[in-house]
Amino acid sequence: MRDNRIRKLVIVGGGTAGWMAAAALRRHFQGGPLEITLVESSEIGTIGVGEATIPTIRGFYQQLGLTDIEVMQATQATCKLGIRFDGWVRPGQAFIHPFGLFGQDLRGTPFHHYWRKLAQAGEVTDIADYSLGASLARAGKFMAPQRNPSSPLGIFDWALHFDASLFAQLMRRVAQDNGVRRIDAKITKVNLDAETGHVASLDLDTGASLDGDLFIDCSGFRGLLIEEALQTGYESWSDTLLCDRAWAVQSEGQGEPPPYTDVTAQSAGWRWRIPLQHRYGNGYVFSSRHISEEDALAELKAAVPDPLLHEPRLIRFNPGRRKQAWNRNVIALGLSSGFLEPLESTSIALIETGIEKIKALFPDRDFAPELADEFNDWSKREMERVRDFIILHYWANKRGDTVFWRDCNAVTLPDTLQQKVDLWTRRGHFIRYRWEMFHPASWLAIYAGFELLPETIDPSLDGIDPQTLSAPLAEMRKAIAEVVASAPPHGVFLEQYCRPVAMAAQ
Ligand code: FAD
Repeated sequence: MRDNRIRKLVIVGGGTAGWMAAAALRRHFQGGPLEITLVESSEIGTIGVGEATIPTIRGFYQQLGLTDIEVMQATQATCKLGIRFDGWVRPGQAFIHPFGLFGQDLRGTPFHHYWRKLAQAGEVTDIADYSLGASLARAGKFMAPQRNPSSPLGIFDWALHFDASLFAQLMRRVAQDNGVRRIDAKITKVNLDAETGHVASLDLDTGASLDGDLFIDCSGFRGLLIEEALQTGYESWSDTLLCDRAWAVQSEGQGEPPPYTDVTAQSAGWRWRIPLQHRYGNGYVFSSRHISEEDALAELKAAVPDPLLHEPRLIRFNPGRRKQAWNRNVIALGLSSGFLEPLESTSIALIETGIEKIKALFPDRDFAPELADEFNDWSKREMERVRDFIILHYWANKRGDTVFWRDCNAVTLPDTLQQKVDLWTRRGHFIRYRWEMFHPASWLAIYAGFELLPETIDPSLDGIDPQTLSAPLAEMRKAIAEVVASAPPHGVFLEQYCRPVAMAAQ
């Protein structure tokens, strides 16, 4: 039988995407004949942002044999229970999107119908009081979730805020320890096979040439292989996602780090504040159609409460996706495959799912088109689902104070999102599409946070006297409040378990 297996895998780029792929794929193909080489240019550098994650990151590094504490110590990380949206509904109003559930379903009917029924009877309660994750976050506390909580009220999850360059270094160490070869050189030319149009080799500024069977393009926004060489094309979503710039800056870390990412509405976008153990990451994501770069910079500088560690850096982006994440023998991963915007910290999570797709659909040298088709369909849908979730945050705002926020209200929703919103508002029901990254509890957090509530209550509750709901729902709130009272402050948890340790030099 002809041995048609991929023997040489070349990863282009050594940012978060490149080193995550190198570490994970080396482990996946452990012991096999596949050679993995990563080429990066220390002269070009990485984007240097991407510090807030969602809980899937923990499963990712656990598969590599790393524990939460090891990763937190190596990356100056803090715990993230969710995102606090400040001023998004109206100035001065905030809510938390936690990684976790709200309340307890009763008699097979989702909790939110009971919560609404109680409110309609005059007892309005804060939905965050029914979420352990949101309540811990609000109180500035942290504890690891129980493995098998006795009730759904104990279910929540957590993620990390980490130093992006330290995380890439950690991934690099894991990859290199397991046999990934690293080349520090600038790629000066991408050579295509005249017959197949596949990438055949890369010319390096060292004078060497690097050939491969399969190339993973992790070269960042430019898409050195997928776009510059293969001209795959890009689908822009700037008509529905208005932000296209960010100023990013690190600041001194002062005070107790909160166990959540803070995202605060600004005049033409929003500002992030990500707590690490040794500093904060800050940035202003804005729409260049609504504010100049200079004015956005001034707004950011005025808003960051602590001393800046360097001059802010401008990053320009075009929200959207590469038309084919897999084209010929090139698979784009990370920013080269597209970028929406950082609001829900989905970019690194999309790198993780990209790696899972590569594992699941790993080709041989015949490159059967069905594999790329499946990969591309999956990637497209997954990104569209995330896009819809992010659009909802902007569209549902009730600020009305600047042209930017009014323009967000006026965006035409994609059909997939419009259907979701319609079914939610009419019937309190969640549509779940294939390849959704965000579960109903996350949609509930955003709908409720923006006061976008169902017009009707599930008819199974018609026979229930709302007064009888007061006591069981109060019990739920009490059970959560008791756990929060017994949990340690986030800073105490970090001090106890997560103080940094020096990494061995490479
Ligand atoms: P890069 O970091 O840009 O790496 C590109 C690599 O390619 C580098 O190593 C470079 O040297 C190499 N390269 C390029 N050209 C050449 C060449 N010619 N020769 C050799 N090497 C070359 N994601 C999150 O999940 N959470 C967040 O909070 C978050 N915040 C963000 C905020 C902003 C403003 C932006 C823009 C993005 C954010 N992201 C976030 C996304 C996140 O930063 C990226 O997904 C992640 O860093 C992966 O980047 P990358 O590895 O694809 O690209």
